[in-house]
Amino acid sequence: MPRSVQTQPLQPSAPHEAFDAREAAPAYEVRTLGCQMNAHDSERITGLLETAGYVPAVDREPDLVVFNTCAVRENADNKLYGQLGQLAPVKRRNDRLQIAVGGCLAQKDRATIVEKAPWVDVVFGTHNIGSLPVLLERARHNEQAQVEILEALETFPSALPTKREQAYAGWVSISVGCNNTCTFCIVPQLRGKEKDRRPGDILAEVHALVDSGAVEVTLLGQNVNSYGVEFGDRGAFAKLLRACGDIEGLERVRFTSPHPAAFTDDVIDAMAETPNVMPQLHMPLQSGSDRILKDMRRSYRSKKFLGILERVRERIPGAAITTDIIVGFPGETEQDFQDTLDVVAASEFSSAFTFQYSVRPGTPAGEMADQVPAAVVQERFERLTALQDEISARLNRGLIGSRAEILVSAQSGRKAESTHRLSGRGRDQRLIHFSVPEGAPQPRPGDVVSVPVTGAAAYHLLADPRDASEYELRRTRGGGAWEAAQAESCAAPSSSGAPGAVGLGMPSLRRP
Ligand code: SF4
Repeated sequence: MPRSVQTQPLQPSAPHEAFDAREAAPAYEVRTLGCQMNAHDSERITGLLETAGYVPAVDREPDLVVFNTCAVRENADNKLYGQLGQLAPVKRRNDRLQIAVGGCLAQKDRATIVEKAPWVDVVFGTHNIGSLPVLLERARHNEQAQVEILEALETFPSALPTKREQAYAGWVSISVGCNNTCTFCIVPQLRGKEKDRRPGDILAEVHALVDSGAVEVTLLGQNVNSYGVEFGDRGAFAKLLRACGDIEGLERVRFTSPHPAAFTDDVIDAMAETPNVMPQLHMPLQSGSDRILKDMRRSYRSKKFLGILERVRERIPGAAITTDIIVGFPGETEQDFQDTLDVVAASEFSSAFTFQYSVRPGTPAGEMADQVPAAVVQERFERLTALQDEISARLNRGLIGSRAEILVSAQSGRKAESTHRLSGRGRDQRLIHFSVPEGAPQPRPGDVVSVPVTGAAAYHLLADPRDASEYELRRTRGGGAWEAAQAESCAAPSSSGAPGAVGLGMPSLRRP
């Protein structure tokens, strides 16, 4: 077990040779805590590990556990150290086991992690994911914990091998980092200034994904509207959306997240005029109080936010708009909270991710004096979620009787087993549980079905066609890619349970 800490940066070298070739390939497990960025980074981590000779831990104990951590939520640290604590006795029993911690919390806490949990072998940051296999090898060889955190991006993460979680849909990073300074957010400190990827590289990755069978792509950035600022083209994001519209076979384009301050009408026009850009927008409000927005250092005001929604709905009728809201930011008064309720009522979000404010050490808001008592935050939170639930349920009920076009997803949870319904997402990203009428063909994940909406709750729709005449199935290349990936890895699902493929830089899903 490593006792000391080695923190000097390493030059990447060849993949590990430390395991004896006669032994079974080392098995890994990746545990992801956090947002879509983290989930996409985990695809890179699994891609890197498989390129280096690791295999997913299926029906056997892992030889490597990688935590991809999040620093945004208050209890992220507790969760991580709790899980690390559970692994300490496992590690004592099995000295082959290695433990690595990466992601935002690793970037923030650095060597503190090995001080608190000396059985951790490797700590790596958000800027040097690519070093993980080398650091693991070095930790094993030197019997010494390796902590490597870089302050700036080493390689744009998309140049790393990626194991896609789903064959029919993929995330594509357009930028990393953020130039804003929201006072509650630790992202700029941990992910650095915004770095924009060149449009040609992004489109090449989208093309490669589509060639491999993907029918849906989500463009990812902390602030997609400022995309292009680094290479001096303010209209770059709208151009990118339109360019995605020209990619044959790409059926659904989504993006997350835009920032209201930088949201310009050319993006709304591009969304409205590009048929494969889906009628859906996730745009964080955070607060409906202009005073709180100012304290949050978010440079739009509620009027501007509502104006964007109005223009989006004018140009894209039926667009589903979702948001993020923080309740109980320091100094939030009852009147400020009422302003949030008013904006929520006026916005008619189809759903909202609501968060109770919690202090993040290292952020300006964490130092603010007038923190709101937890009981007050809880009570406001409940009022907000009750209002949003009522709006979501009402909007969903309004869809009963319409037809939904669902991209079938690869989940088969307990609920699906008990109800025999499958699930997927509508064009507007609503979650829909649907049944396949008797005698009708079963869809594969990645196929598209068209069915009537017959029921609604706040967070999902139900679609139970009466008979086969109300059910249409369109087999897609996405379904074919899913099937091919299943066949390829039938005995070796990924850490998430879903198969995928690894490619160097570019996705390499098999063409159906
Ligand atoms: S826009 Fe604000 S909340 Fe979003 S990543 Fe940047 S600093 Fe954080």
